[in-house]
Amino acid sequence: MSKVAVRLLQLYPREMNIYGDWGNALTLKKRLQWRGYEVELLEHRPGQAFPKDVDLIVGGGGQDSGQEKIRDDLLKIGDELHKLADSGIPMLMICGMYQLFGRFFETVEGDKIEGISIFGAQTVAGPKRLIGNIVTESAQFGEIIGYENHSGLTILDDTQPALAHVVKGAGNNGKDHLEGAIYKNVIGSYLHGSLLPKNPRLADWLIEKAVVNKFGEFDPKPINDDLAIQARKTAISLKR
Ligand code: GLN
Repeated sequence: MSKVAVRLLQLYPREMNIYGDWGNALTLKKRLQWRGYEVELLEHRPGQAFPKDVDLIVGGGGQDSGQEKIRDDLLKIGDELHKLADSGIPMLMICGMYQLFGRFFETVEGDKIEGISIFGAQTVAGPKRLIGNIVTESAQFGEIIGYENHSGLTILDDTQPALAHVVKGAGNNGKDHLEGAIYKNVIGSYLHGSLLPKNPRLADWLIEKAVVNKFGEFDPKPINDDLAIQARKTAISLKR
């Protein structure tokens, strides 16, 4: 196995990282390590130079105030993120970061926080928070299970594919039964939980993209996912 490390970057770990989102970075790191890959965990904080040679990027949810804190920096690194997205770098953006990978998030006070428009989507805060366990179904990934807590209502452009259809819960806006968005290898989703420990198929898809980009091939050595399978069963049976 290559001794060259896979470089996994977490965006804004202080401001944008709630409801267990840190678990997404840990899951990717552990699953890579279990398959014999070295992993270097990097962080990008506001004001820092954007790291070089990144293979995989995660970003989490946050309060509206967290989004305010990172807005200027995100716009500064937006071109870099676009280039990486277009070159096929896999990314997972949850909730608040998902919103800012769209055109904007408008808060309940009417402050329009500009995003970087990787997704053809826009989000406006609604009158009530959408909170609870959520189950969705995707043709590509099967059942995706998590927990949502947001006021933002996201509307996708007609040309923007969703990640999944909502089976139980609200998803993007509680109306059109769509959840998340996908552009090339970039996934946006409202699902916290953390998402990846309970959805190993999604984790392995991100890992495969990163490893194939870097090394040209990926050996999906099986991992014992009994605990993840049990966690999925429990999560599906939970009340909204
Ligand atoms: N500020 C956003 C909202 O409430 C993000 C919430 C989150 O990231 N959990 O819609």
